[in-house]
Order: sequence, then C-alpha cells, then structure tokens
Amino acid sequence: MSRVLVIGCGGVASVAIRKCCQADDVFTELCIASRTKSKCDALAEALKGKTKTVVTTAQVNADNVQEVVDLIKSYKPDLVMNIALPYQDLVIMDACLICGVNYMDTANYEPEDTDDPEWRAIYEKRCKEKGFSAYFDYSWQWAYKEKFEQAGLTALLGCGFDPGVTQAYCAYAKKHEFDSIDTIDILDCNGGDHGYAFATNFNPEVNLREVSAPGSYIENGKWVEIPAMSIKREYDFDSVGMKDMYLLHHEELESLAVNIPEVKRIRFFMTFGQSYLTHMKCLENVGMLSTTPVMFEGHEIVPIKFLKALLPDPASLGPRTHGKTNIGCIFTGKKDGKDKTYYIYNVCDHQECYKEVESQAISYTTGVPAMCGAMMLLTGKWTEKGVHTVEEFDPDPFLDALDKYGLPRRENFAPALVD
Ligand code: NDP
Repeated sequence: MSRVLVIGCGGVASVAIRKCCQADDVFTELCIASRTKSKCDALAEALKGKTKTVVTTAQVNADNVQEVVDLIKSYKPDLVMNIALPYQDLVIMDACLICGVNYMDTANYEPEDTDDPEWRAIYEKRCKEKGFSAYFDYSWQWAYKEKFEQAGLTALLGCGFDPGVTQAYCAYAKKHEFDSIDTIDILDCNGGDHGYAFATNFNPEVNLREVSAPGSYIENGKWVEIPAMSIKREYDFDSVGMKDMYLLHHEELESLAVNIPEVKRIRFFMTFGQSYLTHMKCLENVGMLSTTPVMFEGHEIVPIKFLKALLPDPASLGPRTHGKTNIGCIFTGKKDGKDKTYYIYNVCDHQECYKEVESQAISYTTGVPAMCGAMMLLTGKWTEKGVHTVEEFDPDPFLDALDKYGLPRRENFAPALVD
C-alpha cells in the first residue's frame, strides 16, 4: 500500500508511471502532476481499466517551492518521484524536507540559467577545484545530506539507467565478483534508428548540453578533462554490432569515485552516429545550443529552447525507432588473488518497448529503473536515511526487480576490453 506523487509527465515519467501501474500491489495510489495538466489527464485516461492503481492528476509548477509544498500537503504521498527536469531538483527536495516526505530523481541538479552570476561564481570555483567543467555536479544535492538525515528521510539521486543501473552494476560487481576493482568502463550504446536526420532521444536541452560539453574521466583520483568528442573507440556490442563511441563526462563518475575509491580509472563512453555529430557541431557553431537569451524581432528567445521547439518530441519517436540499446559496465580487478574481467549489461529493443508502453527504449531504460528504485524505497528494501546515489544501496533486490520488470541483466566473463 503506498501513495506516490510523480512530478513530470514527459517521455521518462510516462514509462515510469505505466510500469508503476503494472506493479499495482505496491503502487496503490498515484498522482501525476506536471506543468501541463492535459498531458497528465491523457495518460490517466489511457491507463483507465488497465490497472488497480488509483490514478489522479494535478497541475504544478515545480519551480515554485510553495506550489510543490501545497500539492504534497494535499495529496500526502509516501514518496515524491521527481521525473521533471534537473532544474527542479532543489526546489522539490526543499518541498520534501518541509513536508517530511522521501524524494527521488533521475538526474542531478543543473541550473536552467547558466548565466546566473550567483550560480556562476560557485560553478567557476568548482571547475578549478575539481577539474571538470560540466554544468551539473552532485555538490548541490549532497549539501542536503545532513538535513535529510536529521529529518529521518531518504533522497535517492539519479535512479535511471545511467546514472542509476550502471551504479547498481558497480555495487553488484564489488559485492559478488571482485575483491578489488581496478577499472570501470561504462558503455552506453544506442543502436536504434528513428529515421530522422537529427533528433534527441530524451529532453533535447538536457541531452545537447550534456554531449556538447568537454569529456572527462577519473584517473588515480583526479579528473582528466578533454575536448568534447576527442576520444573515440570502436566496440562490438552484443545484439547491436560494431559502433563508434566517444568518451563523455557523466554524472555517475563523480559519485563512483567517492563510493568505490580503490578504482584507478573510471570512464564513460556513448555511441553516436556521424549524422548526429555533424548536426550537433553545426548547431553549436552557429550558436543554437546557447542558453543565453538573444533578442529576435522584439522578442527574447533562448536559442536551445527554440531549437527544442523545432526538433521532434522524444516521446514521438517510439513508433519510428527500430533496433536495440546495450548499456553496461566492464570491470577489471582482482578476485582471490587473480586478475579478473567482468561485463554486466542490458540489451533492450526499441520496438518491444513501444509495444509494451508506447515509448522508445531510451525512455524505457530510464523509466523502469525509476519505478524499481521507488519500489525499493516503498517496500523497505532501501532504508538508509540521508542523500544517496544508487551504488550506496544493496544492488541485489534492485537488479532482481529490473530482471522482472523488463531490463534483465546479461553477463560476460571474458569481454573485449576498451583500450
Ligand atoms: P521531458 O522533457 O520529456 O519531460 C519533462 C517533464 O517535466 C514534462 O512533463 C514537463 O512538463 C515537466 N516539467 C518541466 N518543467 C516543469 C516544471 N517547472 N514544473 C512541473 N513540471 C515540469 O524529459 P524526459 O522525460 O526526457 O526526462 C526526464 C528526466 O529524466 C530529466 O531529468 C532527464 O535528465 C532524466 N533522464 C535520465 C536518464 C538516466 O538514465 N538517468 C536518461 C534520460 C533522461 P511540460 O509537458 O509542460 O513540458
């Protein structure tokens, strides 16, 4: 028996909500609240008669703490699932603290306005101190650790696939496969094709900011930053085949370096097709990825927001996308005094996802872990108080839930390594 408030009703949230409704013995009541209520109503309507979960809807602007507080106070949920955008993380965490409710999200905080001087001063100090320049980092949300601990509440951060499942894979490798881990390579391959020359698989603004930023990795406890897309490797992915992949900065590197400090090198690679990269470079060169407002014919517009309005809605890619994703982690290390390699990953088929939840595999591979993470909190499997990332919890019940709800793990004990 539980009451859950989901904030956001985009691509990822829609999958998470549909999957919660499949587990209606755990998710007995659920309120879908977002900026555009009509989207919440449409999803609630589509779910009618298909679940025992009692689904209601609400309108909320999650940039406003008081609005979120009012909604939480009136709905009285056991858990708030923030599946809106990373911009809302801190506001929703504040509201959860005020109301005494557990919190979770799928991506770490970044500001909507990266020109805000107050934020910028802290950001620039962090770039110098830590050595990476991505707009997002965990410091903002880790700053809430004591407050959540003292309130006896849990905040689960970044419970999608990557971040999320990739960290559970790391915790699993540490618990069952290794005495010590030397290197981790996280490989995110999307072998899907949607037929458009250019489209992003999740929120375009967040996605393009992420992939156009400098890459970075951790070596011997230090960040090494490199120009965007300057390290390229080829990898032969199970069920997908040979793909080009590029080293990116990614948020879980930061928490893994803290929580598995023995690891000497942690890298993250993502596959991109040439058409995507050419379009992105061109858009970046002409200023279309900028978050700084410009005046156009008497109106102020933010270039990347305008671009978002032109690009296909990621939620509309489902019926068009064919092929598979393959996301996982390759480890090297030692077990019983001997060198060992291990690869744990999931393969997910875009069309299978569409048949099940009317969505492509990127939203699916994020929404299912969000639902399974919520299930861990609601069923008392994960109870640590404070602010935590996925690798800090017991990976076993979470991976079992993923196996059951659509993202089964595969293993390879002699994988090809990335040089
Ligand atoms: P979408 O843009 O499809 O959906 C975002 C939703 O949030 C929309 O329903 C939007 O409402 C709502 N929203 C935005 N601003 C507000 C606000 N101020 N108040 C209330 N609701 C708001 O994004 P995605 O579903 O693609 O992504 C959701 C989250 O998942 C993001 O944080 C993204 O970074 C993360 N993600 C994580 C991944 C992982 O593996 N960990 C992978 C992919 C995504 P409206 O309809 O009005 O626009």
